Amino acid sequence: MADGSAKPATKPASAKKPAPKLEVGPVNFSADGRRRRAFTIRAWSVRHSRFLEWLYQRFAGILEAFHFLFAAVGYDRAERPVSLMERSVKGFMFDCRMCGQCVLSSTGMSCPMNCPKQLRNGPCGGVRADGNCEVIPEAPCVWVKAWEGSRQMQGGDAILNIQKPVSQALRDTSSWLRVTREAAAKKEAKA
Ligand code: SF4
Repeated sequence: MADGSAKPATKPASAKKPAPKLEVGPVNFSADGRRRRAFTIRAWSVRHSRFLEWLYQRFAGILEAFHFLFAAVGYDRAERPVSLMERSVKGFMFDCRMCGQCVLSSTGMSCPMNCPKQLRNGPCGGVRADGNCEVIPEAPCVWVKAWEGSRQMQGGDAILNIQKPVSQALRDTSSWLRVTREAAAKKEAKA
């Protein structure tokens, strides 16, 4: 029939499918995935705090042996490459925020700067019954982990020492270099 009253042809079923949702953001990026990975690695570091304590003691000895080199080049010049290395290694292992005054040896290898309240002497009163954080409920409390890690370490009772407030003047500087310089200065003063 061609009487002009013909209804428009119905669209094929496939035409009614909703358009695919556009992915916004970089491909394969997942903030949650990244956060989960960071939690997993941090948990590993706390579980192996005794081993990491031993490893750091050896590493600190090596750095001290290189004091002559740092002194010759100038500690200020060494700052950039060493702090870059420190940032990558500790960023991966501990989610380090480069506060410049590392206390991992006193906090069971759990970095207190990952506490959302950045407490240097924790925990706060908000720890959940399951040991998780008040602010990030899906994350374990940094200080609960610190206590667990400290119980495995030889120098673990250092967790009972009161930590000084963070000095912002040291932020983004290398703790490794500072500790090395201080240890070398102590040795020289004794000699
Ligand atoms: S205490 Fe400071 S230097 Fe040590 S891991 Fe945490 S942010 Fe980094």
